[in-house]
Amino acid sequence: MASAFAHAAVAVTLATAWVKRPKLPVRFWVLGAACAMGPDLDILGYWLGIPYEHILGHRGLTHSLPFAAVISGLVVGVGFSGPEWVRFRPQLLFYFFVATASHGVFDAMTQGGLGVAFFAPFEPTRYFFPFRPIPVFPIEVSGLINVFLSATAYKHLAKECIWIGLPCLLLVLAARLVRR
Ligand SMILES: [Zn+2]
Repeated sequence: MASAFAHAAVAVTLATAWVKRPKLPVRFWVLGAACAMGPDLDILGYWLGIPYEHILGHRGLTHSLPFAAVISGLVVGVGFSGPEWVRFRPQLLFYFFVATASHGVFDAMTQGGLGVAFFAPFEPTRYFFPFRPIPVFPIEVSGLINVFLSATAYKHLAKECIWIGLPCLLLVLAARLVRR
C-alpha cells in the first residue's frame, strides 16, 4: 500500500477539484478520506490468516471497482439522504466512487506486493500499471513501526510527496484558477 496519508490526501484533493460544489459538511471530507483509506482494512484478513492472493486477501475485493461502486452507494444513501442533496447526488456518487477507487489505482503504481484485483469479485486477476514509482509500506504492524522509526520512512514519504503530493497540489491550484 501507499501510506494512509497519501490516500486521504488524494480524496481531499479530488473534492477540491469539484468546482461547482455546494457547501460541504465536515462529514463529507471525513467520509471521503475514509473511503480512500478504507480498502486497506483488508489487512485484518491478513492477520486472520486469509492468504494475500485470496479474493478477500490484501488488494483483493476491497480494492476493486465494483466494491468502490457499492461503498459509494452506501455512503451517499446513508450520509446524504436529505432532500437538500437530491440534485447533488450524481456528483456525490461519482466523487465517493472515485475517492474509493483511487486507492486501488495508487496501489497499482506501487513497487511491491501483489497487484490489485480491480474487477473482483467477477474476475480475480491482479493488475499493476506499467508505471510504478511509489514505494510500498509494509502491512505487518511491526514492519510499519520499524518503517516509521527509520530513515526509510522519510524516503518513502518523500517519494509519495513527489508522485502523489505534487500532482495533488497542481490539481488544487488548477481548480482554484478555474473557480476564479
Ligand atoms: Zn491498499
